[in-house]
Amino acid sequence: MKSRVLVLGAGFGGMELSTLLSEALGEKADVTVIEKSDAFVFGYSKIDVMFGRATPEAVRLPYRNFVKPGVRFVQETITAIDPAARRVTTTGGTHEADFLVVALGADYDLAATPGLAENGNEFYSVAGASRVREVLPAFSKGPAIVGVSGFPYKCPPAPSECALMLHHYLTTRGVRGACEITLVLPLSSPVPASADLSRALVAAFAERGIRLLLGRSVKALEPGRKTAVLDDGTELPYALYLGVPKHQVPQPVLASGMAENGWVPITLRTLETRFPDVYAIGDGAATGLPKAGSFAESAALSVASAILAKLKGGEVTPNPGTGSCLVEFGDGRLGWVDLDFLTGPKPTSIYHEPSVAGRAHKVQFGARRRARWFGL
Ligand SMILES: Cc1cc2nc3c(=O)[nH]c(=O)nc-3n(C[C@H](O)[C@H](O)[C@H](O)COP(=O)(O)OP(=O)(O)OC[C@H]3O[C@@H](n4cnc5c(N)ncnc54)[C@H](O)[C@@H]3O)c2cc1C
Repeated sequence: MKSRVLVLGAGFGGMELSTLLSEALGEKADVTVIEKSDAFVFGYSKIDVMFGRATPEAVRLPYRNFVKPGVRFVQETITAIDPAARRVTTTGGTHEADFLVVALGADYDLAATPGLAENGNEFYSVAGASRVREVLPAFSKGPAIVGVSGFPYKCPPAPSECALMLHHYLTTRGVRGACEITLVLPLSSPVPASADLSRALVAAFAERGIRLLLGRSVKALEPGRKTAVLDDGTELPYALYLGVPKHQVPQPVLASGMAENGWVPITLRTLETRFPDVYAIGDGAATGLPKAGSFAESAALSVASAILAKLKGGEVTPNPGTGSCLVEFGDGRLGWVDLDFLTGPKPTSIYHEPSVAGRAHKVQFGARRRARWFGL
């Protein structure tokens, strides 16, 4: 008898898991992927959109091209999850499964930062990045803040990347001298997983006159005074605010009873939740590892092996906790770090210095996944 696998969300984790199961089982796979959107967008494309390097339409990868043997793609919005019964309610009906994998990523809680929605610009969604794209050309003097409102958040280097790209953008327009840039991060360094990459970023900020405030987050934006209030009480005036909102799992996951403090607890090496045959992978899982696409993929590899082992035997690959963090420096250079948190006795990292040639790495990162998932 076939065993039904229900994958919630077609992001990095959901698409990679479905692809692995399809590769292993072909038409014998019985995988249903439920996704609310009609197109996938790489996280980093939001930076391209906000700085006018790509249009919002150009970065969309329609799911009609996500076609795999044994995998059924269903475009519906999930409204409720019953993990004990492995039953999911959507705008289109109900779905039941033998294996349930929650890969719904992280959502944004704008209301957690009063004033952010009305007086600032979040750039972590396609809609937000598209709005910033319209706002930026009108900004030519005064203080700009790139601020983060909570931890953990997706792609730890992205706010640093945003500050560097903003510097480059304003320089190209000839107005950098009339603007100040402050970056507010809740972390102890720009990329805590890599001292080398953090050092390179701190040096780049210093060279470009970007002020870096570490260990602090933005609590509120006060409308009348156009002031950002930090969690230590510091007040920073701004003319432009580019923000990363507080993150948490999407509402149906919060309401399902699976989440604690905004995230789904799992066993780190197996990605199992406390419900039998229910797994959580990617940004929504409380792994303590960086929230990035490549980490969602390494979790998908592990869960695919666990499901396959139950269906037809074979080895289970423990979650390796591997992935990479890529950073554009705004001047054409790209640096990155390859991280391995769980394979060996201690986490390891391999640092690749920022270089112009390094940009090809990001191009390949996108091209490999476009080909693998969408056949493009
Ligand atoms: C600005 C920025 C830059 C980034 N840069 C990088 C980078 O360079 N490299 C990198 O590896 N990562 C990067 N990331 C992070 C990366 O995008 C995420 O870590 C990754 O997408 C996580 O994968 P996931 O599968 O957990 O979730 P997602 O890819 O977010 O997928 C979750 C899916 O679930 C769907 N969904 C949510 N709720 C529902 C619902 N109720 N019903 C149905 N479907 C639903 C969503 O539509 C989405 O498609 C970046 C992120 C941002 C914001």
